[in-house]
Amino acid sequence: MSSSDIPINLGAFRRRWIVILVIVAILSAIPLFALAYVYFTNEELQRAQNRVSLYRSTLINALERFQHLPFVLARDTHVLKAARGEDRAALSVRLSRFAAQTDLEAIYLMDRSGLTVSASNYDAPITFLNQNYGFRPYFRKALAGQRGEFFGIGATTSLPGFFIAEPVRDEIGTPVGVIAIKLGLSNLEKSWKDGGEFVFASNADGVVVLSSEASWRYHTLTDISSGRRAAIQANRQFGVEPLSTLNWTVKGASSIVLDGTHYLHVTTSVPKLGWTLHFLAEEGPIWQRSMVVVIVVAIIASVLLTIALFFRSERIRIALQASQADSRQLRAINAKLATEIEERRMAEQRLERARSELARASKLAALGQLSASVTHELGQPIAAMRNYLAAAEFDDDPNGRQDRLNRLNGLVTRIESIFNQLKFFAKPGFSGAADARLEEVDLRAIWTGARELLETDIENAGVELTLSQPEQPVLVRGNHLRLEQVLINLVRNAIAAMETAKKRALQINIDTQNNRAILSVADSGQGLGNYSLEQLQEPFLTTRASGEGMGLGLAISTEIIKEHDGRLTAETRPDGGAVFAIDLPLAAEKEAA
Ligand code: ADP
Repeated sequence: MSSSDIPINLGAFRRRWIVILVIVAILSAIPLFALAYVYFTNEELQRAQNRVSLYRSTLINALERFQHLPFVLARDTHVLKAARGEDRAALSVRLSRFAAQTDLEAIYLMDRSGLTVSASNYDAPITFLNQNYGFRPYFRKALAGQRGEFFGIGATTSLPGFFIAEPVRDEIGTPVGVIAIKLGLSNLEKSWKDGGEFVFASNADGVVVLSSEASWRYHTLTDISSGRRAAIQANRQFGVEPLSTLNWTVKGASSIVLDGTHYLHVTTSVPKLGWTLHFLAEEGPIWQRSMVVVIVVAIIASVLLTIALFFRSERIRIALQASQADSRQLRAINAKLATEIEERRMAEQRLERARSELARASKLAALGQLSASVTHELGQPIAAMRNYLAAAEFDDDPNGRQDRLNRLNGLVTRIESIFNQLKFFAKPGFSGAADARLEEVDLRAIWTGARELLETDIENAGVELTLSQPEQPVLVRGNHLRLEQVLINLVRNAIAAMETAKKRALQINIDTQNNRAILSVADSGQGLGNYSLEQLQEPFLTTRASGEGMGLGLAISTEIIKEHDGRLTAETRPDGGAVFAIDLPLAAEKEAA
């Protein structure tokens, strides 16, 4: 990854996280808002219930405050007298004083026709005196002997009020007039309005009779039938008011829209009059409070998230610093490593140069060694031949001539044997394995062949030979002549090693061990001394006297055994003497492999 990829990937990573965060925020805000809305609605409904109960009791209080007064007045002697037609003006004065004390709008006495004969407001610019209220239901009910109660707009004053009327009876109980009081409710409405709350009362016809909002008053909640409308007009309950329908829609059990504003709507009945009291609480603040909750929670969540992100980015920054320090260290190590590699490469180059120098030098040394050996080996027989040839020029003795010819023949044979040994190294891969024929050969037969050639040498050297070999053939895959050459070499070396020894014992052992064929040649000579086998296997290494060995025997033998997939081992025996062993895979084993 190149360093320019990192910011691009980080940007995409951040964008993805921001999108996820926004989705989570929206998904959490909706239920949170709904929850808060339900909570605040319930709370507001509870409050509205409490408020409407309170308003109900104040309304009932206001209406019932003077409910016994007409009953008491109906039995007052002054009232009774006035009903009979006596002292009516005096009663007016008396009622006026009374009204002023009780805060009533009016107290008045009507005769049996409904004509007001005495009134507390007798001296006011608009007075009930001499007005006829015979059309009013409360008058009729009272004249019929019952208590009359009525809410309506004043026919004279045009002010709304609650009327209570009682019959005034003579001694025998016949109603001779009707005494009535008018209770003004504008103060109650004013207290509702001043409270800043939305309250109104509707009567059994669904007409809003009292309201904290003036615009709702004398509107109907539902359409009124034409018959009912005619009856209302007949008793002039609401004067000339058109009683149009209120602009409201019911949205749910406790929810309405009035003049385009959403309200929670709670009602309670006022049984005495068959009225219903309505309390409205605006839904706007509930919505606002719910929004505030969502916003506050969002702000808290954002603050917490910001703090968390801050700590996270701090952690990342610290980790980044650490990793930058690490990578700086790594770069330094890399640079050091690169320098070391370069140094090593140069050292290897130097080594390679030194090695090829050495190879060249050792080739020259080998050539020198070879030249020395060959010169030495061939020098002696050639010098001897020259001597024989010079002597032959002066010697006429036929016997002597034959003897010299024999000697010359012997010297040629020796030179030939030196050439034969050197030829081994002249072939490709030293040994010429390519043209060596491999066949199944019995190691016992190899010994038998070698023994025939060595017979004279063994006898001449006075060596005592012992042989140990199995009855059955010990078969290996190999070249008969080459293996024989190795064995002859080993035996000749053994005989040479025992030349100066007192006891000359040669022991040949043929055996099989762990699927391998072992042929060992043990002697009682001086042993290997300080030389290792590797050293003795080096070409031209010889400890023998000049002219006796070229130091090639073991080198050739090792190569031959190697090409037969075998091993040549050598060690000094505990009782002195050396033992050389040829270790070859058995033919059966080799075929299986
Ligand atoms: P050469 O016989 O011409 O010296 P070889 O390669 O056959 O060359 O042997 C190398 C040397 O190994 C010998 O010079 C001799 O010192 C040592 N050597 C070989 N066979 C024996 C043995 N059986 N006992 C002791 N030394 C041995």
